[in-house]
Amino acid sequence: MKIFKDKKTLIKEIFNKKNIAFVPTMGSIHQGHLSLIKRAKKESKNVLVSIYVNPKQFNTSSDFKKYPRSESKDIALLRRANIKYLYLPNNNDIYSFRPKSRIYLDKFSKKLCGKFRPKHFKGVLNVINRFIEIIKPHSIFLGLKDFQQLNLIRLHLLKNKITTKIISCPTIRERNGFALSSRNKKLKNKQIKVAGKIYKYLKNLKQNVISTNLKERQLNAISKISLFGVKNIDYLEFINIKTLKPAKSIRENYNIFIAYHLGKIRVIDNL
Ligand code: AMP
Repeated sequence: MKIFKDKKTLIKEIFNKKNIAFVPTMGSIHQGHLSLIKRAKKESKNVLVSIYVNPKQFNTSSDFKKYPRSESKDIALLRRANIKYLYLPNNNDIYSFRPKSRIYLDKFSKKLCGKFRPKHFKGVLNVINRFIEIIKPHSIFLGLKDFQQLNLIRLHLLKNKITTKIISCPTIRERNGFALSSRNKKLKNKQIKVAGKIYKYLKNLKQNVISTNLKERQLNAISKISLFGVKNIDYLEFINIKTLKPAKSIRENYNIFIAYHLGKIRVIDNL
């Protein structure tokens, strides 16, 4: 595994490689990230992983500072995963140039997490746009756990006619169903149990075809989840995964999207 800390040497190494499979991450590598890498390795022998905690996608500097970081452990895990390139840029490497493509922020960015984290998706698209310009990957591997992020990146690439192919990867979960996330490291066992209960409840809710009124389902689900001890639910919505609009009937192809807080940790999921 070759490690690059600046784009000049990275570009020199990869400029003639046509099949770079790119896996962007913010580090604290877990099995979710490793599943993306596994998928990327099927596509290409030139897998490039980045670790960069992007300050522009955090709403507060305290949240940015608190974000878990474990660089030496990550490097060891990535060596074991046998990837070809690891890119560890600093802020200057990413933000000191003017990208050719403009950020396209679709109106879907105003929904779900966009309502609660106003600058978040603009920050995500800014960094992804820059990474793509530096790396020019053939494909980029993104997790469906961050469905809204994945779709906003897809719409940005489409609008700018960027040919990088998106490969969507399924959500990897704990044994109790809770979606893996770097922030989970900060949760107590009791909180992970609650998250497992919420997952199970939502999974059953989706399979339940008896109550068909989605508004009623939404209200019932919110009060049930509060009973599990969750005081702060940002949203619980049923969204059609093709039109990206609120589902009106259970016959539509929808997912349940949720964001809630376990103590100081914000959790998102969709299923
Ligand atoms: P992050 O480091 O949290 O920015 O995530 C980097 C990439 O890993 C994103 O494309 C995420 O959607 C993806 N990812 C995060 N958690 C999971 C998970 N539990 N299963 C699959 N992919 C994930």
